[in-house]
Amino acid sequence: MSDQTEVSKRVEALRQEIEHHTYLYYAKDAPEISDAAFDSLMRELRELEAAHPELIVPQSPTQRVGGYVGEQFSPVVHKRRLYSLDNAMDFAELNAWLDRVEDTFGQMVPVCCELKIDGSSIALTYEDGLLVRAATRGDGTTGEDVTANMRTVRDVPLRLRAAALSSVASSAESLELRGEVYMPKSSFEMLNAAAEMEGKAPFANPRNAAAGSLRQKDPHVTAERDLSTFLYAVADDGELEVEGQWELLQWLREAGFHVNPDVELCTTKEQVRAFCERALERRGALAYEIDGVVVKVNSFARQRQMGFTARAPRWAIAYKFPPEEKTTLLRDITVQVGRTGKLTPVAELDPVVVAGSTVARATLHNEDEVERKDVRVGDTVIVRKAGDVIPEVLGPVLSLRPADASPWHMPRVCPSCGSVVIREDNEADYRCISIDCPAQSLERLLHWASRGALDIDGMGEEIVSRLVASGRLSDVADYYTLTEPELAALDMGRVNKKGEPITLGKTVAAKLIVAIDESKSRSFARVIYGLGIRHVGKTVAELVAAAFPTMELLSTATEEELAKVSGVGEKIAHAIFMFMRTPDNVDVIERLARYQVTMADEGALSGDEGDKPLEGLTFVLTGSLVRSGMTRDEAGSALKALGAKVTGSVSKKTSFVVAGEEAGSKLDKALSLGVPVLDEQQFLELLETRQVPESES
Ligand SMILES: [Zn+2]
Repeated sequence: MSDQTEVSKRVEALRQEIEHHTYLYYAKDAPEISDAAFDSLMRELRELEAAHPELIVPQSPTQRVGGYVGEQFSPVVHKRRLYSLDNAMDFAELNAWLDRVEDTFGQMVPVCCELKIDGSSIALTYEDGLLVRAATRGDGTTGEDVTANMRTVRDVPLRLRAAALSSVASSAESLELRGEVYMPKSSFEMLNAAAEMEGKAPFANPRNAAAGSLRQKDPHVTAERDLSTFLYAVADDGELEVEGQWELLQWLREAGFHVNPDVELCTTKEQVRAFCERALERRGALAYEIDGVVVKVNSFARQRQMGFTARAPRWAIAYKFPPEEKTTLLRDITVQVGRTGKLTPVAELDPVVVAGSTVARATLHNEDEVERKDVRVGDTVIVRKAGDVIPEVLGPVLSLRPADASPWHMPRVCPSCGSVVIREDNEADYRCISIDCPAQSLERLLHWASRGALDIDGMGEEIVSRLVASGRLSDVADYYTLTEPELAALDMGRVNKKGEPITLGKTVAAKLIVAIDESKSRSFARVIYGLGIRHVGKTVAELVAAAFPTMELLSTATEEELAKVSGVGEKIAHAIFMFMRTPDNVDVIERLARYQVTMADEGALSGDEGDKPLEGLTFVLTGSLVRSGMTRDEAGSALKALGAKVTGSVSKKTSFVVAGEEAGSKLDKALSLGVPVLDEQQFLELLETRQVPESES
C-alpha cells in the first residue's frame, strides 16, 4: 500500500469524523467532543489537504467558503413549486381548517405541529448525497442560486450521512429539501450594533438580515454572518421512503440536518390549540424569531388526497400569532416628500420592539388619517405590528395626553423646497409640484439606482444625499458623469476619531464606478420604470416596453396609442405622454442616450441569427466546473445565450456533453452512445470563441 493511499484514507476518515461531530452538534444537539478537539480535527484535515491538494473535493468540510457568486444570482427553477401556506389569523380560523380535515377523512387524523420560523425560505438540492445547489424561494417557481453562500452555513451538510441514504428512492436523481435559513436574535443585535458603529443602515428585523446575508456577492461576508437553518420539507415525497411529516423530520435529522426540536404529533384539536398557546407563551424566550405555528396533516398519502388550491396546499395551515401592540411616545410628526411630490406625514416614535422588529417610524398616510386617529405630538400612542406587515399607529392613549398637545396640520409649504403645496379635488394627498424640489430629486435619484430599476449596487441614500448636497447630482443622467477620483474624495459629512473628515474612499468609489457602468445595460423596461413616471410601476413598464420597444417610438406615441396597450389606461397614458413632452425630461433622456444607457428593447430588435452560433445544438452538463467555479445553471445560461438547448439527460440526440470534475453516470452514458464530450477547458474555449471544437475522431 502506497503512502498516497494511506493519506487518502486518513483524509476520508477525518472528513467522516468531522461530519459525525457536526451531526451530533447540530442535528442531535448532543456534542461528544470539545470545540478545541473539533478544531484540531479540522486543522489536521486542512494540513493534509494543503500538502495533497489533489485530494481536495468540494464536499470536504474545509471547502465551505469559496467559489464565486457572479454579478447576478442565476435563476433556479424549483423541482416543484414552493407554495405559501394559507393563514389562520385566529383560533376560529384554525378550528375551521381542522373541521375540514375531519370532514375529509370522517374522523380527526394525526397532524404535525411545528413552529413557524420567521426566516427566509431555502431549497437545497443533493445529487448522489452531495449538496449541489441552494436556491432562494423567489416567486415560488423560480428562485436564485445562492449555493456558494449557503455552503458557508455550518449546519448545512455538504453531504448526507450514509445511514440516511438507504431511505432515498433508487429512482431519485436528485433530492430537493426545504427549510428556513434564519439569524438568531442575539446575532442580529450584534450585527446591527456593528452596522451602527460603521454608520450603515441597520436591518429592520432578523428575517431581513438573514435574506440580506444570503444575497451577498462575496461568500466570505456570508460566512461571517451567524446564519442557521431548520429543514422541514422535501419537494417530492416520492423520493423518500417515509410515510409522513413526522417521519420526514426524523429522517432529516438522521441525514444530518438541523431540525427544530419543538414539534408535536397531535391527534386532537385541543392538543393543536395547546401547542399554539405554548408556542405563543415561549416565543420571547426562544433564540430565534417565530411568527406562528404550521400545522400539517401528517400522512403524505392523506396530503395527496386533500391536494392543493391554486395558491396553497389544503393539507396545511399557518396559524399566525395575533398582532402585537405596544405603547410608545410620539415624539414628532414629520413630513416626507416622495419622488412624485406627494407629502406623507410620518410618526417619529420612541423606538420600541413590536413583533420582533424595532419600530421607530410609521406612516400616517395623509392629513385626514391623522385627524381621524387624532394623534398629536407628545401623545402616548398604541403601535401595532403583525409579522412582516408594516407597523401601524392605532391611536392615542387619551388619559396620558399632555395638556398642551394640539391637533396636527399639514404644513402649507413643502418642507424641502418651501413651495406652496396643493391638494387637488377628491384627493387625500398634498403635493409639491415644484420641478426644483430637492426632496423629489433625491427620491427620483434613489429610485433610478434601486434594485428593481437600474440597480446601481451600493448607491444608497447616504451617498446620494451627499452627492446632491455637493451639487454633483441633480438628475439621473448625472450619475453617468461621475468619476472615480471625485467619488473617492466625496466628503461624507462625518469625522473620524482624529477629527478628520471621512471620505468615501477608493475601494467603494471603484465599486460604484463599475456598478454605474453595469447599469447602462439593464433592460429597456427597467429604464422606463427607473424614470419614475407617475403611475408607471414595473409591470406597466414591461407592457410599455413590449409595445414601444425603442425610446424613439415611446416618446413619439400619442395618448391614444399609449392607451391602447393592454394594462395601460387613460390615466397612465396621459402621465407618460406628459412626461415625454416636458423639456427637462427630454433633456435627461437625451443625455442618458449619449451616455449609452439602454434606449431600446434588445430582444425585440435583434432577432439576428448570427448571434446564435450554437442554434440547433443540444448540451448536457454534468460534474462540477471547478476551474471557473461556474454553477451548472450559470453554464447552462451561457450556452442558452448562444442559442443552444440544454437538457438534463443524455440521448443519441445530444450534441455534446460537458463533463466537469466528478462527472457521473451521464458521462458514462455519453461515452457508450458515442456523444462527443467536452472537458471544462474546451467548454470555456467554446464560450470564448463561440465555436464548437473540431471533432477529434
Ligand atoms: Zn418641494
